[in-house]
Amino acid sequence: MSVDGDPRPAGAIERCDVAVVGGGPAGLSAALHLARLGAYVILLDEAEELGGQYFKRRQGSVLAKHGDFRPEGTSLISAVRASGVRCWTECSVWGVGEDERTLLVAGPEDEPRSVSARAVLVATGGYERSIPFSGWQLPGVVTPGYALHLATCDRIPVGQRAVVAGTGPFLLPVSCALLDVGVEVAAVVEVNRPYRPSLRVAAALAHPARLAEFASYRAVLARRKVPLLQGWQVVEANGSGALERVRIESVGGREAGREYDVDALAVAYGFRPATELVRLLGARCEVRQGDLFPRTDGRGRTTAEGVYVAGESAGIAGVHVARLRGEVTAASIAADLGLPGAAEPARATLRRLRRGEAFSAVTADLYPVPDSLISGLCDGTVICRCEGVTAGQIRAADAVGWNDRNSVKGATRAGMGPCQGRECAPAVAALCGASGSTEPFPARMPIKPVPIRVAMGESAEEVS
Ligand SMILES: Cc1cc2nc3c(=O)[nH]c(=O)nc-3n(C[C@H](O)[C@H](O)[C@H](O)COP(=O)(O)OP(=O)(O)OC[C@H]3O[C@@H](n4cnc5c(N)ncnc54)[C@H](O)[C@@H]3O)c2cc1C
Repeated sequence: MSVDGDPRPAGAIERCDVAVVGGGPAGLSAALHLARLGAYVILLDEAEELGGQYFKRRQGSVLAKHGDFRPEGTSLISAVRASGVRCWTECSVWGVGEDERTLLVAGPEDEPRSVSARAVLVATGGYERSIPFSGWQLPGVVTPGYALHLATCDRIPVGQRAVVAGTGPFLLPVSCALLDVGVEVAAVVEVNRPYRPSLRVAAALAHPARLAEFASYRAVLARRKVPLLQGWQVVEANGSGALERVRIESVGGREAGREYDVDALAVAYGFRPATELVRLLGARCEVRQGDLFPRTDGRGRTTAEGVYVAGESAGIAGVHVARLRGEVTAASIAADLGLPGAAEPARATLRRLRRGEAFSAVTADLYPVPDSLISGLCDGTVICRCEGVTAGQIRAADAVGWNDRNSVKGATRAGMGPCQGRECAPAVAALCGASGSTEPFPARMPIKPVPIRVAMGESAEEVS
C-alpha cells in the first residue's frame, strides 16, 4: 500500500494546503520546503516509488548487488517523508473537477480519489521528444531515457549492439551507461554539430563545470572507439518482426548513407515539458518551436490563480534547475498562502537558478530540432503508433481544408489512442501546415489512462 497514513475511504475528497503532483527532484524539493514551513502537503506520484526520472530507485537483487543509485535521491526522499508530507505513490492524477481545481486521482487499486488544495503545484516533468521515422514502431527502437533506465537502475543491456541517436548532450551519458553494461555502441548519431568550434559553442565556455562533465563522457567514447557522428540523422529502421538494421544519412545528403546491423536503437531529440495538467488547470501556455511552455512569472506562478509549476514541466533545464525551481516555487506558494516563516528565496539560490537557466538556453541553441525531420517524412511513415495513422493520411486530411488540427485528429484518429497524443501530437501539428497554427492538441481528460470505473467516479465494489 502506498498512500501514507490515509484515514479516509477511497472516493472521499481530501483537503490540504498544497497538492504537489510529481515526486521528482522538483516536487520533492518543493514539498520539503513547504512542509518545513508548516504547510499540510500531499505529494502525489503515479510511480511506485518517489524520485522521478533522475532519482529512480534500484530494487531487490540489483540494489543488493550494485548498491544505491544516486544516494542523494534517497536522502531527499527520506527527508520528505520525515517532514510530514503525505506521500501518495501509485496515484495518477488523470483529470480536474468542474471547479478547475479539484484533482481527480486513480489510486493504487485503481480506486477513485480527489484532492482539493489551496495551491496546486504541477511538477510532472517532461517527455523525451520522439520524432517519427520509417520503422520507429519496430521492437528494439526505444528512447535514450528508457535505455538508460534499463542500464542504470536494472543493470540490463538494451541489446547487444546499439546505435544512440537524435540530439542533445543526454546522448553522451546514455552511450557511456550502455557501454558500462556491455552493449557495443556502434555509433552516436547527432543531428547537429555541437562539438565543432563555433560562436554558439563559445557561449558554453561560461559554464566550465558542465563542459568538463561532457568532456569526460567524450573521453570514454573516444577510449572505447565509439564514433561520434555530427550532422547525421536516422532515416530508417528495418527488420522482420524486430529491429535488425538502421540507416543513417548526412544532413543535406553530402555523403553516402550508412547502415548498421544492430538490435537496439535509442533515439530522441531532447525533451519537452509535460503540460497537460497545467493546461487542464486553466494556465496559459505558449508555443516555442512546436512545444508548449507554461507562462510563468519566473518564480513558478502560472496565469491561473493558485496553480504553480516547477521542474521540467516549466521548461527543460536538467536536474539542478528542477530542484532550484522547486525551492523557489515553494517560496512563492508560501508567500501567497501567507504561511508563517514565508520568505524570499536566498539570493544564492536565485543566482544559481539564473545560471542554470542560462546554460539550458545555451544547450537549446546548440541542439535545435531541424524542421526537416518532420517536413521531410515520406507519406508511408506511421506518425500515430497507437492508431496506425500515416503522414500521408494526415497530410490528406489537412489538405481537405479542415479549419484546425482537431478536425484532422477527428478525421484520422491520430492522437486518439492510449497515449492521447503524448508521443505524436507535435508531429501531427507540424504536418498540419494547411490548417494554420502548430499548437499541439488541447489537453483533454483523461490525461493518463484510467479504468472506466475510475473515470465514472465509482468504487470497484460498486461496479462488480
Ligand atoms: C525518460 C527520461 C529519463 C531521464 N533520465 C535522466 C537522467 O538519467 N539523467 C538526467 O540528468 N536527466 C534525466 N532526465 C531529465 C530529468 O527528467 C530531469 O533532469 C529531472 O528528473 C527533472 O525533475 P522533475 O522533478 O522536473 O521531473 P521528473 O523527475 O520527471 O518527475 C516527474 C514526476 O511526476 C510524475 N507524474 C507525471 N505525471 C503525473 C500524473 N499525471 N500524476 C501523478 N504523477 C505524475 C512522474 O511519475 C515523475 O515521478 C530524464 C527525463 C526523462 C523524460
